Amino acid sequence: MNPRVSDIIEIIDGIAPFRLAEEWDNVGLQAGDPTATVTRIMISLDPCRKAVEESVASGCQLLVTHHPLIFKPIRSLNLLEQPGEILAKALRNNLNIVAVHTNYDAADGGINDLLAERIGLRQIQPLAAQRTGELVKLAVFVPKGHEEKIMEALFRFSGHMGNYSECSFQTGGTGTFKPLKGSDPYLGSIGCREYAEETRIEVLLRGEDLPAACRALREAHPYEEPAYDLYPLLNKGASQGLGRIGLLAGPATLDQLACRLKDDLGLAVARYVGEGSRVVEKIALCGGSGASLLRHAHSLGAQVLVTGDVKYHDARDAEALGISLIDIGHFCSEIHMVKGFCRMLRKEVNGKGFEAEIIVCENERDPFVYC
Ligand SMILES: [Zn+2]
Repeated sequence: MNPRVSDIIEIIDGIAPFRLAEEWDNVGLQAGDPTATVTRIMISLDPCRKAVEESVASGCQLLVTHHPLIFKPIRSLNLLEQPGEILAKALRNNLNIVAVHTNYDAADGGINDLLAERIGLRQIQPLAAQRTGELVKLAVFVPKGHEEKIMEALFRFSGHMGNYSECSFQTGGTGTFKPLKGSDPYLGSIGCREYAEETRIEVLLRGEDLPAACRALREAHPYEEPAYDLYPLLNKGASQGLGRIGLLAGPATLDQLACRLKDDLGLAVARYVGEGSRVVEKIALCGGSGASLLRHAHSLGAQVLVTGDVKYHDARDAEALGISLIDIGHFCSEIHMVKGFCRMLRKEVNGKGFEAEIIVCENERDPFVYC
């Protein structure tokens, strides 16, 4: 079955939850019809004219971009200016556009984790971890044979215990209930006490997702009135946020690290701030424009911040603080997301039994040319 745009948005929410986006950001559907059927999806970094033209020429109905098409409120839709021209071109060609921006920056396995892996970091943690989620324990009583379906429904909202998700526990037992007049029981008869062989499943959930998790539980549970208990927990969930900080596999000099990044990421140029001979091991990174995290990275003991869009005064600030900077360029720090996101989306779309081809934009280039 071909998915609708709304199905893909729901799948994306599982990969890079939209709730993780920064407040100033604008993620999710940028333009289009959530009910439209999708047979082909293109992934690109930018919602630029070339990407839209390539999507249309390739027969795509959905373009998923990292940078949002609509970033600031639009006061008028002028087709001679951006984003009006691109919006009109997309809508005239039934091309829907969805953005996964800072939600994918912060997400587990997202743009910053991909960059951290390419740099070879270990003991990776979020750099600007701001969200330490509340956790809730839900215990539900399920008739034998329905355990997997219920867990599948609830694990979409799984809280984390350290680096572990989908934490649950099961015990078997006998449940009783008496269906009253007006009920439509799945087991038993009205007015008679029923003894049912049931499994108690305890699942760790993110507190903010509780209403959605309870709705999913009711949809998946065979009983007319599912029995479940909710327990608030003092434990805190996984922290998530922008950037990453971690350790190199072994110490390297700043110059060696910058040169290695230049080679590994295929950069035309890399530049750094600091003494090239300085031995570094604790590395902070942030794809895109992350220089605003300089002081925070320094306060966490990072010796280097790897990011893009470094300005002159950022470099002077780094010198004054005594932290090094490696500027790998905005485009090059993020372009790897296109293939990475394509892989993740393919896996999830196929896993849900949907049929849609997912391709990457071939014509994206860094707007900067180095001579
Ligand atoms: Zn960016």
